[in-house]
Amino acid sequence: MNKITNHLPTAELQALDAAHHMHPFTSDAALAKRGARVITAAKGVWLTDSEGNRIIDGMAGLWCVNVGYGREELAEAAARQIRELSYYNTFFMTTHVPAIALAAKLAQLAPGDLNHVFFASSGSEANDTNIRLVRRYWDIKGQPEKRVIIARRNGYHGSTMGGGSLGGMTYIHAAGGKIDGIEHIGQPHWWAEGGDMTPEEFGLMRARELEEKILELGVEKVAAFIGEPIQGAGGVIVPPSTYWPEIQRICDKYGILLIVDEVITGFGRTGNWFGSQTFGIKPHIMTIAKGLSSGYQPIGGSIVCDEIAHVVGSADDDFNHGYTYSGHPVAAAVALENLRIIEEDGVIDHVRDVAHPYLAERWHALADHPMVGETKLVGLMGALQLTPNKEKRAKFAAKPGTVGLRTRERCFRNNLVMRHVYDRMIISPPLVITPEEIDVLIARARLSLDEAYKQVREEGLW
Ligand code: PMP
Repeated sequence: MNKITNHLPTAELQALDAAHHMHPFTSDAALAKRGARVITAAKGVWLTDSEGNRIIDGMAGLWCVNVGYGREELAEAAARQIRELSYYNTFFMTTHVPAIALAAKLAQLAPGDLNHVFFASSGSEANDTNIRLVRRYWDIKGQPEKRVIIARRNGYHGSTMGGGSLGGMTYIHAAGGKIDGIEHIGQPHWWAEGGDMTPEEFGLMRARELEEKILELGVEKVAAFIGEPIQGAGGVIVPPSTYWPEIQRICDKYGILLIVDEVITGFGRTGNWFGSQTFGIKPHIMTIAKGLSSGYQPIGGSIVCDEIAHVVGSADDDFNHGYTYSGHPVAAAVALENLRIIEEDGVIDHVRDVAHPYLAERWHALADHPMVGETKLVGLMGALQLTPNKEKRAKFAAKPGTVGLRTRERCFRNNLVMRHVYDRMIISPPLVITPEEIDVLIARARLSLDEAYKQVREEGLW
């Protein structure tokens, strides 16, 4: 077999990929028919594929490459750490400097008394940690029957058995089952489900489903509530302003632990370090991953408040949970360097003062497109709702997602990565995107919308 490198022809790489590589969230049969796009390099907000196309990455990979691709400082941080201490674990009464330094830095950055970090390698793993943490907390407090975690339909918390069960996506539950002790309530998706209510009324109504669920189950059974400040994978669903304050009030009233999943919204995405700050939420635990290392290394974790850390840490017996790579020194060193870049380069100021205002003007202007209803943008996380009738907030007659997929395909051909969730187009570009690059993103988005609109009408899908 030839050595497999970037220099092989695309068709050969695609054939090998189809023969041996099983892709996440993909029908491998469908992919084999068309051949995967092979990404060979990336710099800043730009990807290069094996055909030499330059693609603007409107999704920062999977919402993670916050500081952009190809940063030399991060390569150096990894190389330095590999030379010094390539691996050691944090089990069995042992620690190392990168894990200490990163935990201390996160404690400094996180709001309130979120001062303790349990490391994982991904957001899914961190949410699995959270399930054990909150149940262990109530066990030690002498209330072992408090085990149920309440989450939302169409929330996303990962793809492990725990994370996938917390998530409210039925197609993930169908992929092998759902663990017990997890209950779901409605999501604050006003466009799709708000009917004749105002967004504010609807936000309150959906938040109050939490109270109803607590009362239905019995408060003595409920351990925690988990939610994303903005649902990401669910379609960049920005909740009405009334939603989070009411969730907070209910959690406080019933003494329910509040887990805020910041895997996407952390590390500058919403214009603050954390989405909890943007929405005024006070969590007991925050789930982090993705932007923690800007995707340069697989690392995630749970940032835990004093009370939970002290209770869980107070027992004489062990907290029986952990991963070989919890606090991996190379991942931790890279994450630490990534946080230094975000801080010293003023990346969050750039989001707040430059990139968000510039993108907001252009993004919201897309509302004049005949197919675009709602436009949303918080920080650098945006959505365009496609609809055949804006006033009625109507759905297309075609199967949900058909028009969104057509639009995404046009983006793909126009060298823009923009995702679709059913008929909602979403973006989450690297936080370092410049106004000039935003112009390219918007021009390609508009062109793709125009082409998709034409195609949808020609196909009679309108
Ligand atoms: N939580 C949220 C909010 C996410 O968006 C994701 C990933 N998209 C996860 C958890 C899971 O993270 P990972 O894929 O790193 O396991």
